[in-house]
Amino acid sequence: MPQNDYTEEKYRVLQSQFGHKAFRPLQEEAVDAILSGRDLLMILPTGGGKSLSFQLPTLLMDGTTVVISPLLALMHDQVQSLKAQGMRAEMLSSMQSSEEGSDIVRRLYANEIDFLYLSPERLNTDGMRNILSQIKLNYFVIDEAHCISEWGHEFRGDYRALSQLKETYPNVPVAAFTATATEHVRHDIVRNLRLNDATLLQGKIFRENLQITARHRIKDGYDQLTDFLNDHKEESGIVYAFSRKSVEAIAAHLQKKGYAAAAYHAGMPSAQRNSVFHDFVHDEVKIIVATIAFGMGIDKSNIRFVVHMSLPKTLENYYQEIGRAGRDGDHADVVLLFSAGDTIQQKRFVEMNDGDLQYKAHLLEKLATIQRFASSETCRHQQLAAYFNDDLEVCGDKCDNCLEPDHDKRDISTEAQMLLSTVYRTGQSFGKNYLIDILRGSREQKILANGHDALSVYGVGEKLSKKQWFVIIDRLLEVEALNVNEHQGLMLSETGLKILKGHEPLLIRSERLNVKAKTVKKSAPESFDYDVELFDTLRGLRHEIAQEQGVPAYIVFGDKTLKEMAAKRPQSKDEMLLVGGIGEVKFERYGEKFLTLLQSL
Ligand code: ADP
Ligand code: ZN
Repeated sequence: MPQNDYTEEKYRVLQSQFGHKAFRPLQEEAVDAILSGRDLLMILPTGGGKSLSFQLPTLLMDGTTVVISPLLALMHDQVQSLKAQGMRAEMLSSMQSSEEGSDIVRRLYANEIDFLYLSPERLNTDGMRNILSQIKLNYFVIDEAHCISEWGHEFRGDYRALSQLKETYPNVPVAAFTATATEHVRHDIVRNLRLNDATLLQGKIFRENLQITARHRIKDGYDQLTDFLNDHKEESGIVYAFSRKSVEAIAAHLQKKGYAAAAYHAGMPSAQRNSVFHDFVHDEVKIIVATIAFGMGIDKSNIRFVVHMSLPKTLENYYQEIGRAGRDGDHADVVLLFSAGDTIQQKRFVEMNDGDLQYKAHLLEKLATIQRFASSETCRHQQLAAYFNDDLEVCGDKCDNCLEPDHDKRDISTEAQMLLSTVYRTGQSFGKNYLIDILRGSREQKILANGHDALSVYGVGEKLSKKQWFVIIDRLLEVEALNVNEHQGLMLSETGLKILKGHEPLLIRSERLNVKAKTVKKSAPESFDYDVELFDTLRGLRHEIAQEQGVPAYIVFGDKTLKEMAAKRPQSKDEMLLVGGIGEVKFERYGEKFLTLLQSL
């Protein structure tokens, strides 16, 4: 069917089913590609509106769309959200009873289901192939398509089976979606899915509502974290930590300080994990402290911050993880805390990896890239764009490097020499804490027993705090003046010797030694001038409805919709439909109650 037959209907459905006035960039192109039966690869940052791009065409076509997605929780969320908009969506997974499963299959045969969500394992069973061969399929959707690439950062073995799609269903178009893809991964997606002359749509990488900050971590970073959280009370966010152990320690620390925080990692029993996930999505827990096991595809639109407590493995991971903030388009803060020690630790993991040399070199290169990003002094949005082959002028004020371009530097050669000299005189085998104790003249038993209180460097560094010495050691590790042995002992390198002998100076950004450095805070630019009290009242009603129906609040209406409602105070159905995010179905289902409330005020 020629695509212009759909033109008017497309806009009508956009308004009536989704409640949006206009397409976002590239959405219409994606919809058109699918409607005209072409294969498609769409790369759009998180929050760009991929879901609508593959959901809208289904509503204009006969038959069923099969959506493949890597995580059950994610599918469950999407299905719920579609149902809330009055659409006929189901998923088949191990989560259902066999009666529920048979009922869904019956409705599939009766052509009563528009969206069928499946995991890749499920798709690849004989039973499923048998069912799918008997119904009319209009197209396949592969969500999180980067999972098919072994060179990507979230490879899923199950996704490999998708390479057989085109063989089994040669006449069904395939539409693949992902938020991030380097050229290598993009190539893998097209090849592994055997996409045929696919339409390629690549969106802008720039997420202008994300305020990016990266800071050298001071010790465990707890003070920096709580300083930041103090400025973000009542907001929802994710704190990413490196290991399960640190996840638990940070969560416990925050709970002790009175924050509604919970831990999440793959080592927890799945029932407990699901309940934490549920509480976060329903705003009962504000802060999730998690390993990267948490968050893929999470659909919660009002995540206001993401904090990384250490360096992520790759820039792709980083971009995807920060992408979970601010999906509603409102201002969100993302903060990266890192130290030279993170790189050293990650390198160890790469070394232990049993991949071949080429693969290890690939991982090390990725690590070097994110390390450069973290300690860089140029626009961070621009660097991200460049990494994903996109062009961007400097952001101006959406990252720390643009906000504070002129860093005041301080010469710390003398302090560095004190430290390096202590390393040298104690035999290049002691760790940070011990060395700092010597410099600060500690009466620690071990120091006295070793006779290190007799060294000329003993006590020469007492003017600096322990924290400041940690920063100086970090700086020495960054410039590779020090190496670390397998027992965490520090050793001098060539560069270290040069600094020690006074042949090379060492500089540091002054602010790093003011160790109570605050993270940058900018007041969030609001798109609407809305009445905060009214917004709270509307939120209250939303909470009631969500509780009553057992769905997450954002499924009822997003924060953005409520703010717009609080600004415009619609007094009739027609006015209500002008608010972004409210279509006919949502109006019938939820909007009416809000209208009654607004009329009564
Ligand atoms: P992605 O899957 O790309 O991460 P989503 O599909 O979840 O993004 O969309 C992110 C948000 O943008 C959702 O809250 C959605 O309702 C909203 N959205 C999508 N398309 C439009 C549009 N055309 N106009 C306004 N809002 C939109
Ligand atoms: Zn910038």
